[in-house]
Amino acid sequence: MRRFFFDPLSRKEDTLFLAEEESRHVTKVLRLSAGSEIELLDGQGTLYRAIIVAGGRQVEARIVGVVSTEDGAGKTLWVGQGILKGEKMDTVVQKCTELGVNRFSPFQSSRCQGKADPGQNRKRHERWQRIGLAACKQCLRPQLMQIDAPESLADLLRNTPAELRLLFWEEEKALHLQDIPALPEAQSVALLLGPEGGFSQEEVELARQSGWLTVSLGRRILRAETATLTAVSIVQFLIGNL
Ligand code: SAH
Repeated sequence: MRRFFFDPLSRKEDTLFLAEEESRHVTKVLRLSAGSEIELLDGQGTLYRAIIVAGGRQVEARIVGVVSTEDGAGKTLWVGQGILKGEKMDTVVQKCTELGVNRFSPFQSSRCQGKADPGQNRKRHERWQRIGLAACKQCLRPQLMQIDAPESLADLLRNTPAELRLLFWEEEKALHLQDIPALPEAQSVALLLGPEGGFSQEEVELARQSGWLTVSLGRRILRAETATLTAVSIVQFLIGNL
């Protein structure tokens, strides 16, 4: 059965409209029409059975039943990622979705390569959201990964209300993930990973002052995208959220 995501805000009682991208997939790619049965996800974990009522730019559908509801393991993993160049960022967005990250916040910091203007940022944000949506469908994940608009590192450091906040830093030699006793029990964990050029000393100090712990991923310096996927995989395993 084909699955599509819909925005719960577009729902009125049992009727709803699919966004243009999903509608195009329904009508142009799969050539489904009125009367066809589909499955719909609300992005929050509930899967519905539905019937297409009308095609067009915004497909209208009617919900006829609930198939399943899944609320995850009750843990929340938040990833702040220094913006990486081009396709590397796309890869990180896709893999973080597959690995079950709940919220993904791209940030601009002193060593990010190239500075983006607001128009470019909006385009990149839309692109990451499309990649996240496609990855959710591919891996059969019922909850969308929330992808924030790019923000500054300083804002992100202040506005991350997670129980445990970990900044991955190649110069941290003492603290490793296995040395954090509170990690397996934490309900919400935030991870911060730098861009290709890493964090500056001042940025690390600012994070520490805001309550972030600096953590090592071992003695080798990993490329930014390797570091993120390694950190996410290990943390998801330790908190029982893989
Ligand atoms: N500044 C360095 C490396 C940056 S690697 C340089 O240019 O040589 C990019 C990001 O990956 C870092 O900001 C950090 O978050 C993460 N990272 C890479 N290797 C790491 C390690 N051994 N321990 C912790 N974090 C690491």
